[in-house]
Amino acid sequence: MDLNHKVIISAALTGAVTPQSLNPHIPITPEEIAQDAYACWRAGAAIVHLHMRDDEGLGTMDKAKFVDTVQRIAARQDCDVVINCTTAGDHRATEDERMAHLPLVRPEIASYDSGSFNWMPDGVFTNSPAFLEKLGTVERDLGIKPELEIFDTGHIGIAQYYAKKGILVAPLHFQFVLGVLGGLAATVDNLVHLKRLIPEGSTWSAFGIGRGHLPIMYATLALGGHVRVGLEDNVYYSKGVLATNPALVERAVRVITEFGQEPATPAEARQILGLRGDTELVAETRAKL
Ligand code: ZN
Repeated sequence: MDLNHKVIISAALTGAVTPQSLNPHIPITPEEIAQDAYACWRAGAAIVHLHMRDDEGLGTMDKAKFVDTVQRIAARQDCDVVINCTTAGDHRATEDERMAHLPLVRPEIASYDSGSFNWMPDGVFTNSPAFLEKLGTVERDLGIKPELEIFDTGHIGIAQYYAKKGILVAPLHFQFVLGVLGGLAATVDNLVHLKRLIPEGSTWSAFGIGRGHLPIMYATLALGGHVRVGLEDNVYYSKGVLATNPALVERAVRVITEFGQEPATPAEARQILGLRGDTELVAETRAKL
C-alpha cells in the first residue's frame, strides 16, 4: 500500500471549553458525540478526538462518560474510526483523574501535552514533569500511542527527553497546536520551524485555532503533514457562518483531493501511525450486541 499520498484527517468534535452558545452544533452528550463521530467518519475522518462535557456543558474527565461514548460509537457496527481520547479535558481535574479513563477505554491514541504555559487570558495549563512521566508510562504500558500536542517549541525538547528515557517510544507522533494565546501563533513561519525541530522519522499533524484554521491546513498539506479539523478548534466555517463537524471534514476531504492526495482510511491511519489496531472496549461492546 502506498501511504505517501495519504493524509490523515482527525476530527476534534467537542473540546473542553467552547460553550454551545457560540455554536449549537457542538456535540455535548455521549450520544451527540457518538453521532458526530459516526458522521465525521462517514465524511472521511480517520480519527476522532474525544472530550467530554458535564451536565452544565463544562469540560469533564468523567470516565463513565468516555466509556459510554465509545460504547455508543462501537454500536455503529460498520464504523472503524480510530479513537483518540484527551487527557486534558478539565482544568479542575487531578492528575489521576486525567488518566483514569485510559485503562477502561484503552483508546488507540491519547493526547500527551508535553509542556506547561499560561493559557490566556485566565488559565494555566499544567503538565508537570512528574505527571508527564506517569502519563507516558501509563500510555506506553497500555499500548496507547501518545499524540504529542505541541503548543510551543520547547515542548518538542521535553518530548525528546522522555523518548530518551524510554517513556515515549519512537517513532513519535506530533500534533502542532497553533493560535492559542500563550503558545505559538498560527503562522506558516511557526509551522515550518516546528516541522524542522522534530526528530527524523516522526509523523506529524497540525491545526490552527479560529482564523488560523485554513492557513495552517493549507500550509500543513504543502509541508506533508496530516490535518485536524473540528469544532474544538474553530466554530466558524467561513466569516459569519457557523460550522458543523461533518462540514469541516467534508471541506478537508475536498482540499486534500484537490491537492492531489487522498484522505487516509482508518486502516491506513493505523498503519501510518503504528497503532494497535483495535480498541478493546469497542470489540467487547460489539461482542455483546
Ligand atoms: Zn482536545
